[in-house]
Amino acid sequence: MNALDVSALARRPQEVPPRRERVNVTRSFLPPQDEYRALLDRIWSGGQLTNGGPLMQDLEARLRDELGVVHLQVVANGTLALQLALRALDVTGGEVITTPFSYVATVSSVLWERCTPVFVDIDPWTFCIDASRVEEAITPDTRAILGVHVFGAPCDTDTLEHIGRQHGVPVIYDAAHAFGVRHQGRSLLDFGDVSTCSFHATKVFHTIEGGCVVARDPEVNRRLDLIKRFGHHFDEHLVPGTNAKASEFQAAMGLVNLPYVEQQRSTRRHLAGTYDALLPEHLQKQQLPAGTEPNYSYYPVVFPTEARLLQALRDLEEENIFPRRYFHPSLNTLPYLPRTRACPVSESIAQRILCLPLYAGLEENVVQQICEVL
Ligand SMILES: *Cc1c(COP(=O)(O)O)cnc(C)c1O
Repeated sequence: MNALDVSALARRPQEVPPRRERVNVTRSFLPPQDEYRALLDRIWSGGQLTNGGPLMQDLEARLRDELGVVHLQVVANGTLALQLALRALDVTGGEVITTPFSYVATVSSVLWERCTPVFVDIDPWTFCIDASRVEEAITPDTRAILGVHVFGAPCDTDTLEHIGRQHGVPVIYDAAHAFGVRHQGRSLLDFGDVSTCSFHATKVFHTIEGGCVVARDPEVNRRLDLIKRFGHHFDEHLVPGTNAKASEFQAAMGLVNLPYVEQQRSTRRHLAGTYDALLPEHLQKQQLPAGTEPNYSYYPVVFPTEARLLQALRDLEEENIFPRRYFHPSLNTLPYLPRTRACPVSESIAQRILCLPLYAGLEENVVQQICEVL
């Protein structure tokens, strides 16, 4: 290589404009590190690392207070929360009526509890289970109804819970997306026999890994508590349990993050407003039932065809922007499930839906750029 070439190479980094950082569909919130470290000091001086220590007790109390719920327990993650809910309600074996449009954990937790998922298609506007079609799926083997508040949009809770009461089957909600959502004037986690949430790092409130169960009935709450920590009190072994405890380190992250939730929600609300104003007409948006106070956790859009979606993915990728195909594929088509009934609405939406980047640190000009590309 001659001297000229070398000098050209050496000059190059200054000439190329710095490329904007990769933009993903979301980005985990990290609080000021000194605030987390201050709580670590408390763990070190107290010496208790897990098993419902003082930080976990404090976090659970604050969450109950903030959400206005009576029985809330923090657990290791949102998937175990679903499994605990099924177990605590005695849903072992039999059929669980659920939605094909969700994250895979909704269905895998049903399978882990040795139950058979029975899929009911979704409402094309809220993307939640179509409550008007649940009753026809009830059989003598139905053990539970498991709805998902998709992207924080409330299920038709009145209808689902009415059907549950009529047929004597419990209603569980996977409320993994619903932290901070209010419905009919109260927290969306305060519905059903048990609601579960995920506090995973990618969710709007997180404890790194984590989740919670919210039970209506004190006896169900007691069983949740027992089975999440091996099913025994000292030497008295009552039921076969599991280990779904979360640690003091997770509690510390939750305690530090909680005060930032509202501020992030208003930033996301602002960015969602920018999307609302600038996105082209041909993209269908999710509709929320009247009276919902959303948490702006996701910004889903439905394309007219899958081909248009794939083109948009390629165009955005060129700008270093990576939305996610949430949820894709429709869960009734999972290859390891026995033949399930067709769910044409869910299958169609799953092929055409994209969640656009939405998180508190996202710059507004990136949102504008995304709208231009689309
Ligand atoms: C994230 C998520 C889960 C799983 O929660 P984890 O805490 O990651 O185990 C379950 N259901 C839905 C709808 C989710 O989005």
